[in-house]
Amino acid sequence: MALDCDVLIVGGGPVGVTLALLLQDEGASVIVAEQAADIYPLPRAAHIDHEIVRVFQRIGVADEVMASSRCADRYDFLTAAGEVLMSFDTGAGPGPSGWPASNMIHQPSIEAALRLRLATKPRAELRSGWTFGAMRADDEGVAADFSTADGEQTLKARYLVGCDGARSAVRDVTGIVFDDLQFDEPWLVIDTIVHDAARLPRANLQICDPARPTTCVLMGEGRHRWEFMLLPGETAEQVVDDAFIADLLRPWEVEGAVTLERKAVYRFHALIARDWRQGRVLLAGDAAHQMPPFAGQGLCSGIRDAANVSWKLGAIIRGEAAESLLDTYQTEREPNVRAIIDMALMMGRTVCITDPPAAAARDAAMLGQRQRGGGPGGGLSYPPISAGRILVGSAAAGEYFPQPWSRQEGQPLRLDDVLGGGPWLIGRSPRAGGAHPGLRLACLAEPELAPFADDLAGWLDRRGAAAVLVRPDRYVFGTGEADDLARAWMS
Ligand SMILES: Cc1cc2nc3c(=O)[nH]c(=O)nc-3n(C[C@H](O)[C@H](O)[C@H](O)COP(=O)(O)OP(=O)(O)OC[C@H]3O[C@@H](n4cnc5c(N)ncnc54)[C@H](O)[C@@H]3O)c2cc1C
Repeated sequence: MALDCDVLIVGGGPVGVTLALLLQDEGASVIVAEQAADIYPLPRAAHIDHEIVRVFQRIGVADEVMASSRCADRYDFLTAAGEVLMSFDTGAGPGPSGWPASNMIHQPSIEAALRLRLATKPRAELRSGWTFGAMRADDEGVAADFSTADGEQTLKARYLVGCDGARSAVRDVTGIVFDDLQFDEPWLVIDTIVHDAARLPRANLQICDPARPTTCVLMGEGRHRWEFMLLPGETAEQVVDDAFIADLLRPWEVEGAVTLERKAVYRFHALIARDWRQGRVLLAGDAAHQMPPFAGQGLCSGIRDAANVSWKLGAIIRGEAAESLLDTYQTEREPNVRAIIDMALMMGRTVCITDPPAAAARDAAMLGQRQRGGGPGGGLSYPPISAGRILVGSAAAGEYFPQPWSRQEGQPLRLDDVLGGGPWLIGRSPRAGGAHPGLRLACLAEPELAPFADDLAGWLDRRGAAAVLVRPDRYVFGTGEADDLARAWMS
């Protein structure tokens, strides 16, 4: 059977469409098969971090996403009486990626921007109304069967990536199972349209009130979110009633300041797939991992999956790398996701206490810790890559490589816009590394790099390195002498 595309993506959610955009920039042909006719309309992600905006910059949607996003610089966990149990400084200024550290968003607007972008791409296509059912893999590729309005259809590709969300059928048919990290709490989520922002909190809040654990967070421009934990005995039908919701909102005194836009009840879980790859079939996004939303990182983690696996699939499809490169996908991504899930669980277990004596004990312990200058809080950061396609042992290998930026004629100019996609070898010397196919060679003396030269030189100085090789996902492959790095990268 002839191949229909290089990579078949099952699921046209934000992770699937981002992956398609990244892959097509890698030169791969892609079909995204999506069961639904439209973008999922109910409340989900409200936050993305700076690193995700840099991925969106790469695929050309960052400006559109940022136009409607709002920065949140604080995330506070409060007792019922308003005392601070934990406070995270999410920073109003730019994060290492050159974009604001914490951005409050409206997920359907982002998905719409991603799909519009996909529609402009010659090598990528979204097929809506295609429901995945089964697949068979052989030496050449994967054949997948779909139910469509025109009957059963089969598509064949070299690789298949299941981006089909929490109930992934791709995961089910591979027989891949989850590690259950033991969290299971039902919450009502409501999104509102804002009419009077001055009457709403300006920080993101978790109210650790055992009588009703509650979340109140900003969203993209013009929206605000509340989440209310269901109490024992309450049902989903009961809590989605508008009168019930009005009662829940009453203590916030926001009548007239907001109107209800959408509502949904979710069970928040913490699950991670034991295997993220089975031969030519891979999982990404919620299909591979799910976490309670307290750290605002589920979607972010899926986008990081896409950034990680896309350049590896691209290199394999172009014949520049062996298929074994895919072994590094889970090795690199799983520890990062587990650390993020741990943080989300710590936050969730702090908030979701409905037993008053247990809540009082939590408050006493955490307030005491804070008085002594300890306890969780401060900045939020997650571990770098410690094993995989990196030059282990060289300074900064596996770290996130920052994106310096400067203002030119009133407009921000960012490093990635100057250097473009693919791997970079940035060195101090004008002849750094000589010529190497596929590597963008850059030296600090280049006029184009002048706006960033001080930042880049400072970064190299701190690592005592002559050069750095940066992977296409903007993690550091390694540091050292340019020629040695180029040789190691090509090997
Ligand atoms: C209340 C809530 C708040 C959240 N807040 C945040 C936050 O602030 N920050 C954050 O980063 N994350 C957050 N998340 C998580 C985030 O929404 C998800 O991680 C994200 O949507 C996952 O994207 P995805 O593309 O992997 O999966 P999905 O968005 O679920 O997309 C999967 C797609 O696959 C399609 N599909 C499913 N089965 C098939 C099939 N058989 N055939 C074809 N197509 C199929 C579906 O129709 C869907 O379009 C939140 C989630 C919830 C519920």
